[in-house]
Order: sequence, then structure tokens, then C-alpha cells
Amino acid sequence: MGAKGKINLIACTQDAEVRAFLQRCLGSKRKYCFEHCEEIRELRSRIKKNSYDILIIESPICTSKLKRYKPQIPTIAMITDDVPKGLRDVVKHDIDYYIIYPFHEEDFRLKLKSAVERKSWFKELYNEKRDLEAIIELTYLVSSTLEPKEVLYFIVKKLSEMIEVNRCSVISIGFGEKRYAYVVSSHEDPNITNIKLDLKKYPEIRKALSSKESVIITDALSDPIMEPVKDIIAPLGIRAIAVLPIIHRDEVIGTLFLRTSKKKRFTEREIRLCKAVANTTSNALYNAFLFEKLENEKERLKKLAITDYLTGVYNIRYFYHRLEEEFHRAQRYENPISCIMLDIDHFKRINDTYGHRTGDVVLREFAQLIRRHTRKSDVFARYGGEEFIMLLPHTSVEGAVTEANRLRSFIKKHKFKGISESITSSMGISCWPAHDIASADDLITLADHALFRAKNSGRDRIEVSTKKQKK
Ligand code: GH3
Ligand code: MG
Ligand code: MG
Repeated sequence: MGAKGKINLIACTQDAEVRAFLQRCLGSKRKYCFEHCEEIRELRSRIKKNSYDILIIESPICTSKLKRYKPQIPTIAMITDDVPKGLRDVVKHDIDYYIIYPFHEEDFRLKLKSAVERKSWFKELYNEKRDLEAIIELTYLVSSTLEPKEVLYFIVKKLSEMIEVNRCSVISIGFGEKRYAYVVSSHEDPNITNIKLDLKKYPEIRKALSSKESVIITDALSDPIMEPVKDIIAPLGIRAIAVLPIIHRDEVIGTLFLRTSKKKRFTEREIRLCKAVANTTSNALYNAFLFEKLENEKERLKKLAITDYLTGVYNIRYFYHRLEEEFHRAQRYENPISCIMLDIDHFKRINDTYGHRTGDVVLREFAQLIRRHTRKSDVFARYGGEEFIMLLPHTSVEGAVTEANRLRSFIKKHKFKGISESITSSMGISCWPAHDIASADDLITLADHALFRAKNSGRDRIEVSTKKQKK
């Protein structure tokens, strides 16, 4: 196998004179790396294993053994004794160049030069074809039914397969945002979501944003744009950077961002490909924006629909929904379930003394305080006015009493903002299984009755539904 950077030739000939001629023409030239074999079978196996730029083959001795095998490399035939047959073979095997005995060095050199040029055209054409195929593939992808985030990931993944990079990502820029950008997709990890980038550390991205033009950095450590962040990028070994703006309706909504430590510069072809991909990415990135906004909005509305507007805890509608569900489950698996009804004592006085606005603030603080102290599995909601309700799945009456006492005591100790007195509360507890609880509604009614008794017995206390517990 020839060395890198040289032109690798392989010759297949049995003729010592041909070999001597080639040796004369090529042997002393440093830019060529020249190998030789005598049999087609050997030639095939070497071509399979190594990469050659040019094949030289003796015709007709060797070409006649080619049969249907056609090496996919620019080829020069050396026609020796039987010229008509040698030429016929050249045509038959579609060989690009030939020279006829007696060979002239000048003739050979010209043919070789053409073959080398052809080889590099082939390579260029092949790369262009690959790029085009990639762009077509990405165009299909962008209009597919995949989620926009997935599309963005496929884009950076594909690009990273075609260009040697350490990082290939899509960076999104919020509208009017100047300080931060977000990595929405990166080729090393499909699960990346919105990693925040401080643009102070990325002068190359800032330049692409302000100029709306691509920023191509060659040899990052000596480029004046990178001067302010030299110390940051030096240990990373970054050498070449490409930032391609992604523009939607004349607005830069993001950039493609490529960095590599493996070479000093990106080639023109690579930059052309990136630019085309950046154009293709525009819709996908814009859709990703919309998609995320929509998802957030949906999430917000969902939360709003189950939240009490004043206190921020669950509303009664959500509580009933969960109550049905949890009560049903408790019955099915025969697990106990408890309910605590809470009412703030003499809340009217707070309103009368400090005004309704302060009353509202206290109510919210009260609700949030309890919410923070409840288990995730319990459901705490505002029942109405200054009354609240809590559902405790998997909790027996003893457990519910302990919990209620705990709540009652820290409410009493808490110093509420805007008022000087402490607040007390009364609570009524019910628990299933019990003889007189057949439905979820019964569970609430009995907790309510117990609360009524707590109020009548002097407030700041807990009462448990007196009905006998089922054995
Ligand atoms: P008790 O110990 O018997 O529960 O006395 P209380 O004053 O707390 O009860 P009462 O039922 O007499 O009055 C309830 C008070 O709660 C009156 C009402 O204005 C107040 N309230 C109900 N909802 C709100 C609200 O959303 N904001 C404010 N600030 N006050 C409310
Ligand atoms: Mg009250
Ligand atoms: Mg009340």
C-alpha cells in the first residue's frame, strides 16, 4: 500500500520490458508509489485490500484474463506484441487510456497525467453526488411526520457523518435574544434539550448573528475573531470552526455550528454542503420552536385547568376526579383511604381586621404551607372559601390522625405575613373501610360532619368520624 499524499499505482504485467519501462518512468519520481503484480487474481485481491489511484495493465496478455472484471480505477493499457487484439481488449473493457509498443516516455507521461486528473474529477464528482444525496435525504426528512427535534438530530447526525467534526449542533436563538443561545440538537446525543450557551464565550456565533453571514474560522488560535476566547478553546484543541446562520423570513433563528480539532480548515465543498443544510434546516428549526411553544402552552393550560386561581393548589374539580379514581382503587385492592377536611378558625376576623386583600394573602400562604408539607401521593385541594380537603390513599384512620395533628401544629406555629396573630384550624377525618361509607361522596360527607363537630367542640382540634370502623 502506498504512502498517504502520493499517487498510488499498480501495474499488472508479465512482460519484463514493460516493467523496466515503468520503472524508468516512475521509479525516480517521489510523488508516485508504484506496485507490481503478474496475475489478475493477485491484482483483484490487492485492489480489494488497498486503495489505488491508477491501474496500468499489459494488453492483450493480462487484459484477456480480465473477463468481465472491470476495476473501478482510471486505467492505462500498455499494448505490446499483438496490437489488433490489444486494442480490441482496450475497447472491450472500456479502458480509458492506452499506449502502443514501442513505448515513449513522453506519451506515457501525458496519459498518466490525464488519468490522474480524471481520478481527482471522479473523486470530486463522487463527493458532490454524496452531498446531493444527503441534501435530498434531509429535504425529505424535513417534510416528514417526525417530531421537529428528531429531524434536527438527524440533520446534525448526517452532517457529522460526512464531515470530520468533534461537534456538530443546531443552536437556537430566541427572538431579540443577545446574551444566550441554546443547543437544541447535537450529533453526540439525541436527548440533548436546550443547553444554554453564554454568547460571551462564542464570538464566532455572535458575528454570524450580527452579520447574518457564515463565519468560517481557519486555525482558530490565530484567528483575530477568536482572540478573546483563546484561553478557553486552546485546551480543547479546536482548530476549525464553521457557523452557518439559519434564517427564517429574514430573521436569524439559529445557526449550524461545527467544530473540529482534526484539521485546520473545512474544505470549500464541506462549507457548501453546510450552507445548503443550514437552508434546509430553517423550517425544521422554526417548527421546533412552534412545537415547543405549543407543548408549553398545552402544559400550562392543563395545569391551569386543575389549579385554584387564588391559592395555587388543586381545585375541587380535580379533587373529585382523583377522589373517584383513588376510592375505586382502594376498594378494589382493599387498601384503606382517608380524608381530612380543614377549615381555618375565625377567618372572618382576619378579613375584618386586615382587609380582604390581606385575607387573600393569608389564604394563599396557608394553602402553600400545607401543600409543601404533604406527601406526593396525597391530594390537597381548596374545597371552597377558607376550607380545604385532603385525600390520603393507603392511609388508615391512625395515620390520618397523626398527619392531621402534624399539620395542625405547624400551622399554629407558623408566622403568617401581614398579620400579628397565629392561625388555628379545625379538621374532620373520615376513613374507608367503614360501615356507613359506600361511596366516595360518603367519605367527604363524614369528614364534613366530623369537622362540624370539631368546630362545635371549641375549634383548633381534630375530630374523627364517630361511626364504627368496619372490621
Ligand atoms: P369558623 O371558625 O366558624 O370557620 O369562622 P370563620 O370566620 O372562618 O367562618 P365563616 O364561615 O363565618 O366565614 C368564612 C370567612 O371566610 C368569610 C369569608 O369572607 C372568608 N372567605 C371565604 N373565601 C375567601 C376568599 O377567597 N378570600 C378572603 N379574603 N376571604 C374569604
Ligand atoms: Mg372558618
Ligand atoms: Mg368555612
